[in-house]
Amino acid sequence: MAKGVLTPKEIRNERLAERIIKNLKRRNMDAFYCPTATEAVKKVSELIPDGSSVTWGGSMTIRDMGIPQVLKDRKTLNVLDRDDAPDRESVIKIYERAFTTDVYLSSVNAISEDGVIVNIDGNGNRVAAITWGPKRVIFVIGMNKVAQTTEAALARARSTASPINASRFDIKTPCQVDGVCHNCNSPESICNYIHFLRNSPQGRHIVVLVGEDFGY
Ligand code: SF4
Repeated sequence: MAKGVLTPKEIRNERLAERIIKNLKRRNMDAFYCPTATEAVKKVSELIPDGSSVTWGGSMTIRDMGIPQVLKDRKTLNVLDRDDAPDRESVIKIYERAFTTDVYLSSVNAISEDGVIVNIDGNGNRVAAITWGPKRVIFVIGMNKVAQTTEAALARARSTASPINASRFDIKTPCQVDGVCHNCNSPESICNYIHFLRNSPQGRHIVVLVGEDFGY
């Protein structure tokens, strides 16, 4: 492929992103498409004004893209990173402080082509902050998280993202054993809260779509 010529996948991602952005705007969310992770990290950083307090939910996307370090290198931000917390008590404090931050970053478990965002949570801290508290929520979403419909997005979250996350945290759930969701009620279930964001009150949610695969 000649330099500067888009691959079929890149062309598809760009066209699909255009459609999703239009649908997100209809849902009162500002949205952007960045073809590469490098551009996406720059965009996320630009969306966070100097002087902001910022934290994030557990997200492989945010970590794998190297966003925490970029934000920490900006000395004007107050960054709360639970990975730096020395103990569980400090982690809980960061969860609590998340509700009063200026910016909360999160990925998602899935997004439908018409812009419904689906997240599944074990503790609930992430979906709680997405729902209420931080002045602004920025979602960073690899195009691998796009599903055709809301139903397909839910199915993706339950049958792909959650079993992988159960393995990632080595949690004793049925899906950790065979990779399939059993709709369990296990004490360690990571699927206690299922959250749909279908419209952004006060437009506090912003989406950055990334033309690369990130997260599960
Ligand atoms: S088996 Fe339980 S923990 Fe695993 S994905 Fe299904 S509901 Fe979630």
